[in-house]
Amino acid sequence: MSESDPIHKSDFIRDIIAEDLASGVHATTITRFPPEPNGYLHIGHAKSICLNFGIAEENSKTGAKCHLRFDDTNPEKEESEYVESIKRDVRWLGFDWGDDLYFASNYFGFFHECALHLIKAGKAYVENESAEEMRIKRGNLTTHGTHSAYRDRSVEENLALFEKMRRGEFKEGECVLRAKIDMASPNMNMRDPVLYRIMHTPHHNTGDAWCIYPMYDFAHPLEDALEHITHSLCTLEFENHRPLYDWFIENCPVPSKPRQIEFARLNLTYTVMSKRKLLQLVQEGHVDGWDDPRLPTISGLRRRGYPAAAIRDFCKRIGITKFNGTTDVALLEFEVRDYLNRSAPRRMAVLDPVKVVLENWLDEPLAKALVSNHPQNPDMGEREVAMSGAVWIEREDFMEDPPKKFYRLGPGRCVRLRGGHIIRCVSYDKDADDQVSLIRAEIIPGTVGVDAPEGIECRAAIHWVDVADGVDAEVRLYDRLFGVEDPDAAEGGFLTVLNPHSLKKITAKVEPLLLAAEAGFVCQFERVGYFVADEVEHQPGQRAVFNRSVALKDSWGKQAGR
Ligand code: ATP
Ligand code: MG
Repeated sequence: MSESDPIHKSDFIRDIIAEDLASGVHATTITRFPPEPNGYLHIGHAKSICLNFGIAEENSKTGAKCHLRFDDTNPEKEESEYVESIKRDVRWLGFDWGDDLYFASNYFGFFHECALHLIKAGKAYVENESAEEMRIKRGNLTTHGTHSAYRDRSVEENLALFEKMRRGEFKEGECVLRAKIDMASPNMNMRDPVLYRIMHTPHHNTGDAWCIYPMYDFAHPLEDALEHITHSLCTLEFENHRPLYDWFIENCPVPSKPRQIEFARLNLTYTVMSKRKLLQLVQEGHVDGWDDPRLPTISGLRRRGYPAAAIRDFCKRIGITKFNGTTDVALLEFEVRDYLNRSAPRRMAVLDPVKVVLENWLDEPLAKALVSNHPQNPDMGEREVAMSGAVWIEREDFMEDPPKKFYRLGPGRCVRLRGGHIIRCVSYDKDADDQVSLIRAEIIPGTVGVDAPEGIECRAAIHWVDVADGVDAEVRLYDRLFGVEDPDAAEGGFLTVLNPHSLKKITAKVEPLLLAAEAGFVCQFERVGYFVADEVEHQPGQRAVFNRSVALKDSWGKQAGR
């Protein structure tokens, strides 16, 4: 982050780390991003990625690093498709884990050692009570828990039973290993939590080497400690797990003591972020896969044409705090628009075309119009756009009976075709449905590249596509996937508030340059919005397919003076 960065901000976590480095508590900082490979990453993960990898980057002079660690201790849920997608997304966001790629499943031996260590110290026991009995005996926030009948088993008996668990001599659910901490603790997490459970399920990495698997709460702090993570950054819901994590760190033979710091997770309006819900949307076909541009997944946002830099800017702008809240998705759209406004070249496309015949075309032929690629950035140059005697314009740029402040085309009125002549509407036809079907206009000679001559009122320039030269493109107009701000709170469940109009496919007329564009090319369709050539279906030279990234905020008022 440079000093000139307009949204450069520090936060309480960066402050703590800076202090630790300054005071010598640590010589450097090692953070980690620890996804469970059971789904695709979403914009919430991007917040965590930008924080963890960002801190490593900012402190690189001290040798700081950020690990990418797959938290793959649960054998039932992980898939290699997810591992690959997560790597791709982290890289695409602009971050690099270097050699520091880890899989928690490689630490199964270490977790087991730690469990044995706790048993030998009299701090863990094999529990034979059922899950239901355990639940009842745990008590609640107002009553203490009660001790299990098996809590005072001898170390020898516990070691023997745990070994039998490991060898697969018990059925799933027959027993578990529990920590022996404090059944009267006001913190429920400290009431003898389960450390290990039996699962006769092979693991994608370790095969059937294990039939006992560590619980998340036990494994996670040990993973951090084993990797010498200095600052373990997680979301607020883990705040009251911290005493338990600290207890594991204190009582297990670990090589380092990570410090956990919690921050607020990202929630966004008009979307859902839980992996379970995203999976359901994908599996039940409410969207077209994990990379559907309507999803808040990183791959969906990429396919929608959101630049990685805009997502990073968004994460910087929302900052890191301790307060849970919901961020307006409009802020993300703002960052995308802001970034693309500066960087995206302009092109012309007509989404709702109506034909304009230029009746006196032959009197003043202009084979090519010169159109600027970015009006605020002359460095992006100009391009030639072929023009013949007929053009498509946007239906809404013509009004039969326009009010005074409408500066575009109407009977007898003038408008400029971007980069070309001023034209005046002479007459128009309507079809059986009372829709304008054809407009006839005359070009005003000598008006290319010069101001409107005396007596001609022309205050706006509109985009157009040449009828002879233009090509068809499939354009997908994406809108929010949900019709309400908080789909998670919908009475009938989030699926009942899906927005039925979240995708509209139309055929537009576009410049031939857009057919030639590479997949992933992002531009502004002038006066319409920002669009990206679809990663999957756009085929240069064959088939033009564009996705709307974000609409332009445009109104009549802004047209004036163009
Ligand atoms: P689940 O645990 O339900 O599978 P998760 O969102 O916690 O889902 P993980 O793969 O465990 O998924 O997340 C990896 C990291 O991303 C965690 O460190 C987590 O804190 C962080 N993270 C997840 N969701 C958000 C969010 N909405 N905002 C900020 N960080 C998040
Ligand atoms: Mg999680």
